[in-house]
Amino acid sequence: MKILIKDLIYQLENLAPIEYAEPYDNVGLIIGSYNQIVTNILITLDLTENVLIESIKKNCNFIITFHPIIFKPKKSLIIENIYDKIIIHALKNDISIYVIHTNLDSIWEGTNSYISKILKINKEKVLIPKKNILKKLYTYVPLDYAKKLRNSLFDAGAGNISDYSHCSYNINGIGSYMGNEKTKPFRGSKKKFHMEEETCISVIFPYYKWNKIKKALFKNHPYEEIAYEVHNIENINFRVGIGIIGILEKEMNEYDFLFFLKKKMNLLFIRHSQLRKKNIKKVSIITGSGSFGIIPAMKEGSDVFISSDIKYHDFFKSNQEMLIVDIGHYESEKFVKKMLKTFLEKKFPSIFAYESKIDTNPVKYFS
Ligand SMILES: [Zn+2]
Repeated sequence: MKILIKDLIYQLENLAPIEYAEPYDNVGLIIGSYNQIVTNILITLDLTENVLIESIKKNCNFIITFHPIIFKPKKSLIIENIYDKIIIHALKNDISIYVIHTNLDSIWEGTNSYISKILKINKEKVLIPKKNILKKLYTYVPLDYAKKLRNSLFDAGAGNISDYSHCSYNINGIGSYMGNEKTKPFRGSKKKFHMEEETCISVIFPYYKWNKIKKALFKNHPYEEIAYEVHNIENINFRVGIGIIGILEKEMNEYDFLFFLKKKMNLLFIRHSQLRKKNIKKVSIITGSGSFGIIPAMKEGSDVFISSDIKYHDFFKSNQEMLIVDIGHYESEKFVKKMLKTFLEKKFPSIFAYESKIDTNPVKYFS
């Protein structure tokens, strides 16, 4: 069976919607073609020249990279420029490049969740929830059409709240209308005032699903002119955003915890703030650069904050109320390759997805 790049992208964006990426990020298909037939897939954390050579050797024409190779709009492509050279070579070899980055960080089963599982942490909620992602739809439909319409809205992705699906509120009432001579009212007659028993259905949904939900609404509502309202709501979805807070399965002292972390994450070394001589139970995590999470993690009463790229002065911020731990940027994200490989192999058993064998960590340790 031939699998096109757009088929892979459909599944990847079902997992991690591109709308959940941070505004500064550049995710999605950035080089190539949606209609290309996929040979093999290569998954990497960073796209370097060696990774591109590896993809050619392994006959991979689709590279998934976690860190984007293009961040800002480009005005030129010059082969002597190290990054441009990779782009030019990808184009010359018909290799498409796809970025899945902060959108993978932001989902409930994303990068932070992966570390939580390794460290046996029971997730409670997202550390910094993404704002303004929820909307509410109200629509008014004849009583005998309410069930069909409601179900179609659920199928399109409306009505999900944490572990609950099919959530809606329904009020029966009486709607009224009068169409002019150009109309063909579903019930009643044109130019005649009509009152109809209707159900007002209200459902919550993430904004990026609106097109799909609108399609379902227009397909399954019987009226010529559909009565509906969409409202912005400020409710927070604690399952979308950056970082995770959770409770360690087994409470332990700080020394044991650092040892456990080093072993479980296979780390060479750990940078950390001064030990507080208190046990570790509540853990906050942000994979990648996460020093902006120190204060939110403290406000949540975390015993430890695990992240990377923590600067010297940032280590003072916890004032010994919380242990700050830097495990390294690459080290906190290195499992992304495996995570995506497992996902793709489940969805596309006939396709081969390789984890790049190149260690792209630009930071080396001397001991
Ligand atoms: Zn990163």
